Amino acid sequence: MESLHLVSREHQPQDTVVEVGNVQIGGGSPVFIAGPCSVEDREQIMKIAQAVKGSAQILRGGAYKPRTSPYSFQGLGEEGLRYLQEAGRAAGMPVVTEVMSEAEVELVAEYVDMLQIGARNMQNYALLRKVGAQRKPVLLKRGVAATIEELLLAAEYILAAGNSQVVLCERGIRTFSHTYARNTLDISAVPILKHLTHLPVVVDPSHGSGDWNLIEPLSMAALAAGAHGLMIEVHSDPELALSDGPQSLKPEKYRALVRKLDRLATFMEEELK
Ligand code: PEP
Ligand code: MN
Repeated sequence: MESLHLVSREHQPQDTVVEVGNVQIGGGSPVFIAGPCSVEDREQIMKIAQAVKGSAQILRGGAYKPRTSPYSFQGLGEEGLRYLQEAGRAAGMPVVTEVMSEAEVELVAEYVDMLQIGARNMQNYALLRKVGAQRKPVLLKRGVAATIEELLLAAEYILAAGNSQVVLCERGIRTFSHTYARNTLDISAVPILKHLTHLPVVVDPSHGSGDWNLIEPLSMAALAAGAHGLMIEVHSDPELALSDGPQSLKPEKYRALVRKLDRLATFMEEELK
């Protein structure tokens, strides 16, 4: 595609490595991002951070939540940012959270190590320019009905505004077949994106499926397809979660999954190279 310039492999043949705090995405081994959908209170995020440290390298948690219904829990806002930052520091992990509007970019960037642009905002060009004009790395999620070209052009906005630290995230696309899964996780996007761009590609099987039972097989598939990392929702008490409980793994399950994924990554590196 002609209008793909800065993000393209032609422009930069070697892989970009994105630095999030002391963690590198796109370098060697896959990076695991974990945490609750929403930061609900201080104790909740502190507890989950302690439970995933050692398995995950980056802690996630939403403070500003893009909920489909205006009556659903909307997140704790700045209070949530403070708890997330504190939990990340206590666990020794960098943190990522979503920023939903241009007006909040500076505030959110003060508290976190990486800014997430959610699926619903992938084509919010003013927001893309704004995160492109600041220095924190960006996790850019694919829109629910966005083509691969549209995702790459959204990333192009960020790079063109001056920020080359962008990680792309496949998180499932809108599907006609949502009886058993919330979205269709587009595994093929991983090798396609890796062919077209030098930017790292991670996969979010949680929003990609909507069902904790599907996280393990989809995570294995994503790594086998070449993903540089996985973002997975983890909650100590999914039944009581204020958002996305049905797709959240309990910490023990998450840790067991990462042990398997590490073995898969080692096998791929040592036996399949
Ligand atoms: C999230 O990761 O918290 C989220 C809301 O995801 P998405 O934008 O992919 O729906
Ligand atoms: Mn969620």
